[in-house]
Amino acid sequence: MAKKSAQAFTDQSDCPCQSGLSYGQCCGRFLEAADNKATSVPQTAEQLMRSRYTAYVLGDSQYLLNTWHPQYRPQKIDLADSTQQWIGLKIKDTHKGLAQDDSGEVHFIARYKVNGKASRLEERSQFVKMAGQWFYTTGQIL
Ligand SMILES: [Zn+2]
Repeated sequence: MAKKSAQAFTDQSDCPCQSGLSYGQCCGRFLEAADNKATSVPQTAEQLMRSRYTAYVLGDSQYLLNTWHPQYRPQKIDLADSTQQWIGLKIKDTHKGLAQDDSGEVHFIARYKVNGKASRLEERSQFVKMAGQWFYTTGQIL
């Protein structure tokens, strides 16, 4: 965990994506892959979406780039300057995006605060699977 070190955040902590699982059992499996601690990649578009939300929470811009489809990926993501504090995720529904699919859609609401003011992002995100790995392509903000 070379990410947010301020608070005592461990594999046993509640996963930021609010799945009800611990970080180590949920998104941690995917985010920590770069540190060679994890061997798994998300099997579904929803798992990838959740892990990308968690990456935003933890400020893991490298994970966000790694899971962004090359055709849509920004040059870089700078989360260090971000004043957005992510406080919650709710998956509204999903369409395809299961282990046997090659594409999928996840409709979610993410809540955040900027300078103490609460706001929310509602988006329909599109995902595709290439060579067995899910990638985020684009999202439609609702
Ligand atoms: Zn999670």
